[in-house]
Amino acid sequence: GLKANQNTRIVDKEKDRVITPRSQDFNAWYLDIISKAELADYGPVRGTMVIRPYGYAIWEAIQEYLNVKFKETGHSNMYFPQFIPYSFIEKEASHVEGFSPELALVTIGGGKELEEKLVVRPTSETIVNHMFTQWIHSYRDLPLMINQWANVTRWEMRTKPFIRTLEFLWQEGHTAHTTLEEAEKEALQMIDVYTKFAYEQAAIPVIAGRKSRVETFAGANRTYTIEAMMGDRKALQAGTSHNLGQNFSQAFGTQFTDENGQRQHVWQTSWAISTRFVGGIIMTHGDDTGLMLPPKLAPVQVVIVPIWKKADERTGVFNATSSVKDTLQAAGIKVKVDDSDQRTPGWKYNFWEMKGVPLRIEIGPRDVSSGTVVISRRDIPGKQGKVFGISMDCSILVAYVKGLLDEIQSCLLERATSFRDCNIVDVSSYDELKEAISEGKWARGPWSARDEDELKIKEETGATIRCFPFEQPQGTKSCLMTGSPAEEVAIFAKSY
Ligand code: AMP
Repeated sequence: GLKANQNTRIVDKEKDRVITPRSQDFNAWYLDIISKAELADYGPVRGTMVIRPYGYAIWEAIQEYLNVKFKETGHSNMYFPQFIPYSFIEKEASHVEGFSPELALVTIGGGKELEEKLVVRPTSETIVNHMFTQWIHSYRDLPLMINQWANVTRWEMRTKPFIRTLEFLWQEGHTAHTTLEEAEKEALQMIDVYTKFAYEQAAIPVIAGRKSRVETFAGANRTYTIEAMMGDRKALQAGTSHNLGQNFSQAFGTQFTDENGQRQHVWQTSWAISTRFVGGIIMTHGDDTGLMLPPKLAPVQVVIVPIWKKADERTGVFNATSSVKDTLQAAGIKVKVDDSDQRTPGWKYNFWEMKGVPLRIEIGPRDVSSGTVVISRRDIPGKQGKVFGISMDCSILVAYVKGLLDEIQSCLLERATSFRDCNIVDVSSYDELKEAISEGKWARGPWSARDEDELKIKEETGATIRCFPFEQPQGTKSCLMTGSPAEEVAIFAKSY
């Protein structure tokens, strides 16, 4: 078999394996990974994306974790229609202003002009409130806490696979409460769920904080965000949680009768994480060789590559391979065996490295006779370890592999954290801010200036306020722009 396929192999080498090094061109590298690691393809309509099985499996791992957390925090899943009457969007003034440029509208249905055009859901606050008015009557109906997993459509002008697409997948949480304090607590609780998810599952050391007025969601009183630093040091807004106040409940008349018999408007929140997060994982951990997936979200945690030359070696190697596979799988580890005859072991190593699989196990004829396997880590190039005693006691192998996966998970987080911290500069003047931004870094400095000043910075440097981080330095501060007293530092950065 090997000889017959020699030609195919040579072609493969050039076409499939080569990706632009990250250090050479970050954008080309990102797009190469999306395509060569088989994460997604472009859809026929500009800005749309077909998510392929390997990319979708990462999204599924994100969903599995978050879905459990949402339920633990008291939310139920449900589903709202994708078509929203246009009049709904118009009801909340700042909401329509923010979303109008991005709306996709349906004007014809079944061959006839519609009496009222329909909006293809860009987010669901309006239709949620329409329904909440029918379900909420008294304080006993509150809090009402729901979530939906859905697709949304926003007609974005600049697009990039996963990061910003016309249609994307997300979850959107929507809650209604009797008091402002309760809604605020909920908004904070959910940004905390996202923060823990980012750190513990995705190994992404996000900075959580509050958005500036300028960057607040259209229709919210406050937006909380998690901001992640990508490998090119641009910021990515990776998740948001909004305190909506009574903006939508007043626009839609979402009211309840309180314990004293008074009619009151509910206080609301909404919060979302999207398929953008998959892009965030790629751009945080990937390297010149390709994708590097955090073990907790990796669709394949261990790839096993059997190695044999002569036909009489094959059976022994394959038996050992399938017994190792069964052992790991029984222990809950996600394993893939690459036993195709079409490729050389070297080709397979490169391919699975490029796909970001955390661990590789090689099993050859000598390993079969000595009861060993060779294990390599994706995050430490060239490092190999031999594990002994496989044939004697499979618990040794399981413990070893689980230990390595945990180690890789924490190494990725440590690496990303020190990268982040090396690239945030404390600034105390606009000149220092400009210098940090021109070096591609994030600038952190005291801020109490006007919205106009923030917009001026965006115009002059390309950087925006990513957030006022929850974690604030001690001591008195003066605004980097005006010199006036400032209560908080803000983080400025260029972003996706
Ligand atoms: P928003 O409703 O604007 O707060 O967005 C909620 C979350 O969805 C954001 O935190 C982003 O991570 C994500 N998001 C927004 N727009 C897009 C888009 N066009 N493509 C993918 N994800 C998006």
